[in-house]
Amino acid sequence: MVRTRFAPSPTGYLHIGGARTALFSWAYARKHGGKFILRIEDTDLERSTQQSIQAILDGMAWLGLDYDEGPFYQMQRLARYHEIAEQLLQNNQAYYCYATKEELEEMREQQLAAGLKPRYDGRWRDSKQTPPAGIKPVLRFKNPLDGYVTFNDQIKGKITVANSELDDLVLLRGDGVPTYNFSVVIDDLDMNITHVIRGDDHVNNTPRQINILKALGATLPEYAHVPMILGANGERLSKRHGAVSVMQYHEDGYLPEALLNYLARLGWSHGDEEIFSRDQLVEWFDLSAISRSPAKFNPEKLHWINQQYLKTADNTRLAELVTPFLAKDNCLTDGGPDLTQVVDLLKERVNTIEELADAAVYFYRPLEPDDELKAQHFTAETKPIMTGLLERFRHIEWTREVIHQEIKTAAKEHDVKLPKIAMPLRVMVTGEVHTPSIDAVLALLGREETLARMNSHLG
Ligand code: GLU
Repeated sequence: MVRTRFAPSPTGYLHIGGARTALFSWAYARKHGGKFILRIEDTDLERSTQQSIQAILDGMAWLGLDYDEGPFYQMQRLARYHEIAEQLLQNNQAYYCYATKEELEEMREQQLAAGLKPRYDGRWRDSKQTPPAGIKPVLRFKNPLDGYVTFNDQIKGKITVANSELDDLVLLRGDGVPTYNFSVVIDDLDMNITHVIRGDDHVNNTPRQINILKALGATLPEYAHVPMILGANGERLSKRHGAVSVMQYHEDGYLPEALLNYLARLGWSHGDEEIFSRDQLVEWFDLSAISRSPAKFNPEKLHWINQQYLKTADNTRLAELVTPFLAKDNCLTDGGPDLTQVVDLLKERVNTIEELADAAVYFYRPLEPDDELKAQHFTAETKPIMTGLLERFRHIEWTREVIHQEIKTAAKEHDVKLPKIAMPLRVMVTGEVHTPSIDAVLALLGREETLARMNSHLG
């Protein structure tokens, strides 16, 4: 059975790149009826935080990336790492190294001075020296000295590295905490991971991990290293390119299914399909369709996809989603027009829930037009027309059609074009010039509120 995992280090928010890796792992497991596992790699004690763990869990929940097992925490598995470390030590596949920081630094400087790539020189490997007192040793892996490590990456193809390029990796630090490369191997093994799908910043770690797995006599998983995400300028995606935290998109009013759709398309494709459901993604997903070159993050495209989802989103759901955004703006909807009808009227015109909230405010409180708009639209010519319209509005049936008819009649009577009436009316009632059809707005706003707002300008 296919078993994949997402193994974030909780050292910050859930990054767009991490979320995409999680999505690919999730989709692969779901496609093959397998299991998706969440593992929190919290062995970097200085940088791991509870807040960051929460941000990862929140981000995954918001995106709907459900996991079948976990979250597992590496710091709760220390006994297991120590058990395997002991086994490697007993089998002469690992050894204690007592080299001090200063010694290692000196080694490094000498190698650099000699034009060599810095690497641990194996001085405690098979050493007969008596261990110095007072030093907490690290445990190192006895990497094979010759031969090659080869694996067939599902995205990058065949990768071969000479063992002579790899030094003896630290497995356990002096304080007994495992290094990433050690704990990841034990976990992938214990959790029966069949497909390791991760960012290609780890591709250089893979030969080392394979050597440890081989030392343990384990079957190797498949590996798929996903190329990274770049910003528009070709540099690695970072804060400079805009929001990179998944939950920031939540706060900015994106729909999770839109972000998920966009992330899926970032470095993976299914023909020219741009908009697809989660089920379609699962059905179509394939590692072989992941691009070998880095993907470029395009905020405009994400914006566009979000709009496509907004257009067809359920009104009751949108009303729920927009409420906190309106509340942030001190805009209360109680007693005002039905919010589901308001969002229905506006959703085609906006790209995010935040924009939806901005566009909905005038339904719940009058907005004062700026002086320029007033000067342009409230003229000596328009005033009597508006006053006449106000009078007619008192008596008509309050439906969109009838309102529209009244505006048309007024235009005819005064021999002006429709916008000459619609625009001042719009500015009086909404404070803006960009709104949906004014008859629809007025119908929703209600007669009383419309008249009150017109009156306040005609006064
Ligand atoms: N904890 C590693 C990271 O966040 C995971 C790498 C892996 O998936 O093996 O980069």
